[in-house]
Amino acid sequence: KAKDFGRNQVVYFSDTLDKEIKAKVHLEHKLRQAISDEALTVYLQPQFDAQKNRFIWAEALVRWIDKDEGFIPPDKFIGVAEETGLIHDLGLLVLRQVCRYLQQHGKALRLVGIDGIAVNLSSRQLFAKNFYSSVMEMLASYAISPQQIEFEVTESLLMENTEQAIRLMQLFKDQGFRLAMDDFGTGYSSLAYLKQFPVDCVKIDRNFIKDIPQDEQDKEISSAIIAMAQKLGLDIVAEGVETIEQSEFLQAQGCRVMQGYYYAKPMPIEQTFNLTADFS
Ligand code: C2E
Ligand code: MG
Ligand code: MG
Ligand code: MG
Repeated sequence: KAKDFGRNQVVYFSDTLDKEIKAKVHLEHKLRQAISDEALTVYLQPQFDAQKNRFIWAEALVRWIDKDEGFIPPDKFIGVAEETGLIHDLGLLVLRQVCRYLQQHGKALRLVGIDGIAVNLSSRQLFAKNFYSSVMEMLASYAISPQQIEFEVTESLLMENTEQAIRLMQLFKDQGFRLAMDDFGTGYSSLAYLKQFPVDCVKIDRNFIKDIPQDEQDKEISSAIIAMAQKLGLDIVAEGVETIEQSEFLQAQGCRVMQGYYYAKPMPIEQTFNLTADFS
């Protein structure tokens, strides 16, 4: 009967919903604890300049290894952190570790070519009231100059409140921070939008890289992004470069800087001290 069916469905849905909510609450609780224990760590993924033939920069990627559940990937908890507001403390934790790395190991990083570290920002962080002053205080307390930090933002973040986003980005840029457009090509991406934002660099999303050289369309799209970024005078980083074929194709199109497993995986900072730049 329809009524029974309906009732069953309600029971079924509320059951899954209940489980989902419980799992989220559980994750939120664990994440809150992990943040206050500073149990999250920051890995670095070096970026390679194929023309200079050395590493030049690195991206900070947060890592959570839970004692019961093991490795929990960022895609599983960044969303929860954003929904619950935990992203603010998480973001400051990441920035604090990055400042500490630069203060304590800046010399060792420069020896392998790495001049600065890119930090991901999510939507809620940039627009938070005290974000700018928190960042400036943090850098000052570790005696780090803004030239050593890049912020990676996404298009969707910027579309939420374009005017304010531009104003805030300009504020950071005036201080000497580098700014990058992350995951480029996945959102609203258009030349006109890109021109509005004071970014130094465009990161081509991994989704356009992963099927090169087989996928003709992806080759066209990444070539177009590279050509466009060059016309605008922007630096370009290709994300998720896993093979020499991908690297060679991208280089032929004019992209010099590669980030991906072919060159280096995200790693604890100590491991970056042993990097060698031999990919010939
Ligand atoms: P993202 O900023 O686009 O970071 C690049 C992601 O691609 C990282 O995933 C990295 O490990 C992965 N990756 C790099 N090279 C390769 C490759 O050759 N092959 C493959 N398959 N993957 C590659 P990860 O570390 O899981 O991070 C996922 C996303 O989580 C990041 O995407 C970023 O949006 C977010 N995230 C990570 N750390 C932070 C953080 O500290 N703060 C914020 N707000 N978001 C973060
Ligand atoms: Mg990123
Ligand atoms: Mg990305
Ligand atoms: Mg991404």
